[in-house]
Amino acid sequence: MALIVQKFGGTSVGTVERIEQVAEKIKKFREGGDDIVVVVSAMSGETNRLIDLAKQIGDQPVPRELDVLVSTGEQVTIALLAMALMKRNVPAVSYTGNQVRILTDSAHNKARILQIDDHKLRTDLKAGRVVVVAGFQGVDENGNITTLGRGGSDTTGVALAAALKADECQIYTDVDGVYTTDPRVVPQAQRLEKITFEEMLEMASLGSKVLQIRSVEFAGKYNVPLRVLHSFKEGPGTLITIDEEESMEQPIISGIAFNRDEAKLTIRGVPDIPGVAFKILGPISSANVEVDMIVQNVAHDNTTDFTFTVHRNDYQNALQVLENTARELGAREVSGDTKIAKVSIVGVGMRSHAGVASQMFEALAKENINIQMISTSEIKVSVVIEEKYLELAVRALHTAFELDAPATKSE
Ligand code: ASP
Ligand code: MG
Repeated sequence: MALIVQKFGGTSVGTVERIEQVAEKIKKFREGGDDIVVVVSAMSGETNRLIDLAKQIGDQPVPRELDVLVSTGEQVTIALLAMALMKRNVPAVSYTGNQVRILTDSAHNKARILQIDDHKLRTDLKAGRVVVVAGFQGVDENGNITTLGRGGSDTTGVALAAALKADECQIYTDVDGVYTTDPRVVPQAQRLEKITFEEMLEMASLGSKVLQIRSVEFAGKYNVPLRVLHSFKEGPGTLITIDEEESMEQPIISGIAFNRDEAKLTIRGVPDIPGVAFKILGPISSANVEVDMIVQNVAHDNTTDFTFTVHRNDYQNALQVLENTARELGAREVSGDTKIAKVSIVGVGMRSHAGVASQMFEALAKENINIQMISTSEIKVSVVIEEKYLELAVRALHTAFELDAPATKSE
């Protein structure tokens, strides 16, 4: 008999009808004899609606009160789901984060889980009940309600699975797994049977939005097997797990991630002396702007060019800061570009295969796509290109790395 934590996202509990469907699914699942802890999100749109209410009172809601407000979304769904289960003669009980005692720090709106009391949960499971826990919320040591940041119910699910040493944490959502890339861009994209925590983390931070990044970090840290599945369609989903022995069949590249959220800034003709990188990026970070990629050119005539990317929302802010810095340093000029995109190939197979990056550059060259910036890590290569070539680049790479699904007759 296994212990499974199942998390259902907002669209899966978006209506009473769907909540009943989820209850039906849990009832069937339970007939297999496993113990089940269920974590639910708020009904879809509810968290946004609550935040919007707060913003009607003031632009900057008091963080503590905002948590009191938004945590109610999940309280609604746990109660409804418990009722729907009991209607089906499935013994069930619902708990808020506070009632379980999911202890967090006091960082309202982005709290971190410190400890989970599993006492009540274990007693209920032993008594044959399905335990339904509110996602996204906890309580700090002074009894204040806290929330874990948008998408935080995933993290609640994983944290509960870790605390209970569950056999698997299943994330039920509106897609049937993790794909090699976004199927809206590449129709031949395939569902992955398996992906490692590391790869999933890269995919998530590079723009794939299936799971909250923190939940993947958490799962990796505590080695909680995570499975992404469709709420209402049958199928094995995608298992996210530790890196096993690399097998012969393992593809070198697991997926291609991309995003259009970045902008590029360049400062030209800065003196090539120690401390210049700090003089350029120090004020950027003081302005609370996060920098992603950085490139510094080789110097000639004792000056150099320096280019970096930031989130597109931070572009104007960063540009202003950089113009000030340019004046102070006597730099030649500052320029920027918001029409860029980042494309990344991700795969643990890269560790044992040379030449993956050049294979990527070759595929882009064949399509005449100019690479503006490059960055690499052990398991990923990212390039910045002109935004209008993004889809072409993703498709070309998907084919070059043999990720396309075999052609099937159209249904
Ligand atoms: N309801 C919260 C949100 O919309 C948490 C979650 O759904 O995971 O962000
Ligand atoms: Mg969600």
